[in-house]
Amino acid sequence: MAEGAEDVPVIYLHEIKRQYIQGEATLTILNGAKLALWAGQSVALVAPSGSGKSTLLHIAGLLESPDHGEVYVGGTPTSQLTDIDRTQIRRSDIGFVYQSHRLLPEFTALENVMLPQMIRGLKRSETVKRSQEILSYLGLGDRITHRPAELSGGEQQRVAIARAVANAPRALLADEPTGNLDPNTADHVFRALLQLVKATRVAMLIATHNLELAGRMDRRVSLVDGQVVELD
Ligand code: ADP
Ligand code: MG
Repeated sequence: MAEGAEDVPVIYLHEIKRQYIQGEATLTILNGAKLALWAGQSVALVAPSGSGKSTLLHIAGLLESPDHGEVYVGGTPTSQLTDIDRTQIRRSDIGFVYQSHRLLPEFTALENVMLPQMIRGLKRSETVKRSQEILSYLGLGDRITHRPAELSGGEQQRVAIARAVANAPRALLADEPTGNLDPNTADHVFRALLQLVKATRVAMLIATHNLELAGRMDRRVSLVDGQVVELD
């Protein structure tokens, strides 16, 4: 992706259609969904359970392919790319945070954040330095040698966020990242996410049920009959 290309969306979903076959029935989950995610903007995706939020995030994150439509990353269409090229884009340009932290239990917080950087081929010493910086930035400077089981839920989720941004992605996609947390902890984790958007100009899309948190983001969208609609 070209540097400073802020006149094109970081991710653009064009006319996305996604169906699942379930027994005899065909479920149409996304039906012409369109959405542009911009650098430095946080977008809340607020919609009922089962409406297709996770499906939309997976498609935007190149984890799943649409049946029709196109996902543009930095203006580049991705549907004709090889799996290897798509994986490359996912690793360099997109970070993902899930509802459960999905950290590797046998590794420390530091090592969990180092791994995606090492997979990208950075030198170990660089990944140590960078991981320490990111964890400190997220208030975890004194937790870097802890394993996930030795961290609180909010701390685990902040390590997961650190891991997601370790490769300085253009887009950060989060699927109900505070869904398992108590309100205070959710607030803390959420503030960390918003802080990252302002500090790094990452484009952020967060699926959330929490209307109070959604209200603090730059923009709110929902899913109605498989299409993205702007709220407010
Ligand atoms: P949300 O995240 O908003 O709760 P999802 O995107 O997870 O919604 O799911 C939307 C609908 O698609 C649900 O009805 C779900 O059961 C169905 N669905 C999701 N993934 C699959 C799949 N792999 N196979 C069949 N149906 C699926
Ligand atoms: Mg979901």
